[in-house]
Amino acid sequence: MTASNRINHALYDARWTYDGANRVRPTASKMVLAGEYTAEMADRLYCPECFTPISRSPKDKDRFSNGRTCCFMHRSRYREVPCSLRTPIADGKKYLTEEDAKEAIASDQLAIVDSFMQDRPAKPDATGAPYEQSAVEDKDGPIAEVPIGRHRGEKFALPSKIATVAGLCRRFDINLYKYFVLPGSDVARKLADVLIDVATVTDECEVPHLYYGIILNSWNAGQNPKPSNVRMTRLRKHPSVADFTIKVQASEQEDKGINDESTGRVVLFWAKITRNGIGLAATHLAWGEFALLPDKYQKLLTEK
Ligand SMILES: [Zn+2]
Repeated sequence: MTASNRINHALYDARWTYDGANRVRPTASKMVLAGEYTAEMADRLYCPECFTPISRSPKDKDRFSNGRTCCFMHRSRYREVPCSLRTPIADGKKYLTEEDAKEAIASDQLAIVDSFMQDRPAKPDATGAPYEQSAVEDKDGPIAEVPIGRHRGEKFALPSKIATVAGLCRRFDINLYKYFVLPGSDVARKLADVLIDVATVTDECEVPHLYYGIILNSWNAGQNPKPSNVRMTRLRKHPSVADFTIKVQASEQEDKGINDESTGRVVLFWAKITRNGIGLAATHLAWGEFALLPDKYQKLLTEK
């Protein structure tokens, strides 16, 4: 469920040039998919709808390091030319006024996530009642300046949350279609458009993203297993990757319900992707940065 680019194919014409005015289709153009791009096509590719010159991104590699496949993109130079294919997903949802954005937050259609919770919150009371993860709600974060206004560069001062991935999983069917501004991002995008399947990831990535993966198996890495050992949780990975592992202390994973019996379950996590031996890993996940997706929502990610 990675973000899909709207321009599925480009028109390639080695001899045609866009004249800046006419909506005329390149005469001898042929259809090219992003994966069929070759260097000689640079500057000779046009949008199939508005016919402005477009670029392939990235220019030479076949994949972004975060697992997104390459795609075609409009050029900002032709921003004024109307086109329905102009990357609405990448631009995200815009709000007309600060009040509109606040209203969207109040009515649960938008959330500004300042960060994911680092430490497990203290029990709400000292009565000794069993700790329930479901009782933990997101905490209020600082007021954030977010550029999601319809006018370019306009920033709104909006209340943010210190969220948990468990919170995203709780009403996942609703959250999938809710807009989020995630940490380090300044666009509001649907959760469904930002979640990355770990099985599409082929390389390290220094920027944290929200991922999901299907658990292949999970085990305590200690010779004499103790809760303080690392638990290795292997996820379904891309064919070109040796293995993909979530490496977090066993007690912390087991608190989230991840144990030897978790094969087939889906885990969501917010992380950087690092090298781990010959494979890839997500390590040092904080308390609020990972959670098991409840069974009942699993088909929303695994059956497409
Ligand atoms: Zn276009």
